[in-house]
Amino acid sequence: PLDRLKDRALFRTESYIGGRWETGDSRFTVYNPANRGALAEVHDVGAEGAKAAVAAAAEALKSWRKTSVFERGRILRRWYDLIVEHQHDLGVLITAEMGKPLPEAKGEVIYGAAFVDWSIEEAKRMHGETIAVPIPGSRGWTVRQPVGVVSCITPWNFPSAMVTRKCAPAMAAGCTIVLKPAPETPLSALALAELADRAGIPAGVFNVVCGDAEAIGPVLTGSPDVRLVGFTGSTEVGKILMRQAADGIKRVALELGGNAPFLVMDDADIEEAANGIVRGKFRAAGQTCVSPNRIIVQDSVAEELIAALEAKVAKIKVGDGFEAGVEVGPLIHDEAVERVSGLVESARREGARIIVGGEARTDLGGSFFAPTLIEGGSFALDLACHEIFGPIASVYRAKDEAQMIAAANDTPYGLAAYLYTNDIGRVHRMSEGLDFGMIGINAPTVGAASTPFGGMKQSGIGREGGKWGVEEFTELKYVLLAGV
Ligand code: ADP
Repeated sequence: PLDRLKDRALFRTESYIGGRWETGDSRFTVYNPANRGALAEVHDVGAEGAKAAVAAAAEALKSWRKTSVFERGRILRRWYDLIVEHQHDLGVLITAEMGKPLPEAKGEVIYGAAFVDWSIEEAKRMHGETIAVPIPGSRGWTVRQPVGVVSCITPWNFPSAMVTRKCAPAMAAGCTIVLKPAPETPLSALALAELADRAGIPAGVFNVVCGDAEAIGPVLTGSPDVRLVGFTGSTEVGKILMRQAADGIKRVALELGGNAPFLVMDDADIEEAANGIVRGKFRAAGQTCVSPNRIIVQDSVAEELIAALEAKVAKIKVGDGFEAGVEVGPLIHDEAVERVSGLVESARREGARIIVGGEARTDLGGSFFAPTLIEGGSFALDLACHEIFGPIASVYRAKDEAQMIAAANDTPYGLAAYLYTNDIGRVHRMSEGLDFGMIGINAPTVGAASTPFGGMKQSGIGREGGKWGVEEFTELKYVLLAGV
């Protein structure tokens, strides 16, 4: 699939450290999940590479933090323009290494680029304030300054957008970066580094290190120079990183797992709700932290919703993301297929009703799982308690608002929730009652560069996007001047 690249130079396998492409002592293989073919042998630069990258970032910080925000904006604007210009190639890399259909991958590139555009402008508005102080002849004010060197660890489900969503606001705020992408999808991050280089982002401001997470992780969380650890991934790994970061009292920004409820009320437009579920659920083959995980429907409209979903899910076209018309690509690898198969099998044993799909599509030759519709029956199922991360819509019935809110909140997670209703009273009552960081009302997805993305409870700490996403990478400093 890499033959589809118009600009072959975007395909890199070395790490980008201090403005140079560096090799490692060993390599790891990146696979195409649609056919399990090897795409690339990427250099593992290990702990030594990570240390060199932190040193380069610390050195570059000295001048980058002093550059005017306008100048940083002009440089980052060139990066934005190059990302948009190479939308096709960046999309090809995403589809090749992650599997999502090419139109969706190209959409991710633009969604990701929007964080660069937004952050450039938002960073210009990191205003300070003047404050009244109780000492005569004194003045007080605040300034916002870059937090310093930021390390970022990103997942494979959005190989491009998770990089820009963290790195763009941090760089716009005046921070320098060491990024470790997921081993499944390093090619997208390395292509972004190649474009950063062409954009003239100064050496050491944006570093990308690939390799063994357990060797690189402690450097990124433990180096005295690193001031903030940004991570998107599983709650389990988030806890490890937070523990490691605790030793140096480093700031953390964590986007972790979810278990999103999707509530459909009896007054909702059921056809619209079914369309929303299909759009929200099967994006990235269900492998997003905001995927509807538990569809909770009011009894009186349950049959109607299930019938509408059955027709739509049965029609979804699965296959290689490069094939025209394919709506759902492969899962990231065979272990993911096995995990999802296990969740479906245990639900089946517990009496869940498999309405559409329910099995791996081994006939397609890659790591595929059939788009599936299940009526769960019980909220105690593993399928309801765990993040599915696969193309499975599972439906549960409930009686009324109170029962639905209680069921929705009965999880350690609190990332996204969805509510379909046309009753304005319900909109307020229920959105206030749901313990989730983002709530989509009659909307099946929530992300945008201008809005706060993040979770409550074990879904994370902090917000990405909007003015909050830039603030995250700053320190608020108070200055008191006496004897005026
Ligand atoms: P997933 O289960 O979706 O792959 P993970 O949380 O395991 O999500 O991975 C997300 C990112 O965290 C990846 O870049 C991965 O390499 C990295 N990672 C996994 N384990 C560790 C670790 N112990 N230390 C640092 N990074 C890690």
